[in-house]
Amino acid sequence: MSATERPEGALPVAEQPLPTSRYLGVDIGGTSIKWSVLADGVLEDTGSVPTPRIDHTAVLQAVAQIAANLPNPVAGIGVAVPGLVDPVRRSSVFIPNLPGDWSDLAVAEQLEAIAGTPVALLNDARAFAWAEHTSGAARDVASAVFLTLGTGVGGAIALNGQILVGALDSVGEMGHVPVDPRGELCACGGRGCLETFASGSAIVGRLSRTHAMAQSPTLVELTRQGTEPLTAKLIAEAARAGDPWAIDAFDRAADALGQAASMIGLLLQLDAVVIGGGLKRAADLYLPRVQAALDARISLTGPIEVRSAHYGTEAGSIGAATFARARLTTS
Ligand SMILES: [Zn+2]
Repeated sequence: MSATERPEGALPVAEQPLPTSRYLGVDIGGTSIKWSVLADGVLEDTGSVPTPRIDHTAVLQAVAQIAANLPNPVAGIGVAVPGLVDPVRRSSVFIPNLPGDWSDLAVAEQLEAIAGTPVALLNDARAFAWAEHTSGAARDVASAVFLTLGTGVGGAIALNGQILVGALDSVGEMGHVPVDPRGELCACGGRGCLETFASGSAIVGRLSRTHAMAQSPTLVELTRQGTEPLTAKLIAEAARAGDPWAIDAFDRAADALGQAASMIGLLLQLDAVVIGGGLKRAADLYLPRVQAALDARISLTGPIEVRSAHYGTEAGSIGAATFARARLTTS
């Protein structure tokens, strides 16, 4: 057989399909580790396991186990953590909500040693932005702000197609933008941060501290006379039923979001504000008011569209896998 001939059925090298590029993304939270597998950028599988409540080694071993249990090997693992990371040293700076000591922990290096696979590390709000900007609600725009409303408020910024990362990985920490200098003290030490208005815990906290619980028949009924804990989900239910205290709590959150988003919109020429996280399910209660706040500044900022996130709880893991694919792809 000459060099130009080949066995029947075999493709010439140039026509052979490339091997599938498969990346695992994990989103490590205080109660669960959510994971997703992207094959050539397409979601192939997703799931979650409980976060081991022992120490950081047990958490990293649990991540390696997720990879080991997959039917196909992965080219890399993207890891999203609920805290700031050092992008150069690929270490976590400080993570208060995970078991063990994550201060200055070489997460990527340690996980690479356990899993035998390259690892890329990022903050969970930045992972949310990677998912929404690459294939979600902001896939068609160049510049956007991304906010996750949950227990806290996380944020990230994409400018001209790039998700911004600083040396301290704190670009886009919108949860701690002050919206009321005389407001409540925030866990960060600041006063009147966006997080003290627009997080799920801020909304619940506000109604728990005021007299609303005693005066609102709707909230009394929804919490079965106060025997069940008040949650943001129940408050959203009460607001939709017309309860004035619940509506006020969401209006205050929306006003704070509108103010913070306008501030960022005035600084950066944004196309969109994408809002996700646990409170995404109550988007009908605050999105129109946030849009109205942005529209009020339209002559200075141009149009900025407020959008509900495309992804749900899987956003962080999809974003982590997307980030790993972008960072770890060699060819
Ligand atoms: Zn703060």
